[in-house]
Amino acid sequence: MYKYKKVNVASPLGDWNERYVLSIDNHEEIMAALADFCKKKKIKAGDITGIGAISEATFRFLDPATKQYVDKVFEEQMEITNLTGNISSKEGEVYLHVHLTCSRRDYTCVGGHLLKARINGACELLVTDFGLTSVGRRFDPETGLNLYDF
Ligand code: FE
Repeated sequence: MYKYKKVNVASPLGDWNERYVLSIDNHEEIMAALADFCKKKKIKAGDITGIGAISEATFRFLDPATKQYVDKVFEEQMEITNLTGNISSKEGEVYLHVHLTCSRRDYTCVGGHLLKARINGACELLVTDFGLTSVGRRFDPETGLNLYDF
């Protein structure tokens, strides 16, 4: 499903961050692979950045006025120009919040809140585990979002 390598840099300040270079295998679905990795590594809080290439992506748009979700699927070859996300937990489970921007054959970009994306080429990520810290979430009825619960 994926390969990874720990790339910790010794810190004189003794911080707890653990970093991994993560390469998800071709034709895998990014969100499922990421969730599996975080679960296996017991990452409770962290962040994610990355690039790659995909043949399909599903984005979700939340209309703040109606609180209705609108999902849209793009089925074409695209370059991931930026994947940015964070890792937290909700009710004891890994909770991923990922946004993705990708470029099409004509060099225009589409993007948004990522539900899923199918790799067609490669997907190279840097995952930072904040360590022992756990960051939780709870549903906020006013915005319709699962917000941080500090
Ligand atoms: Fe989002």
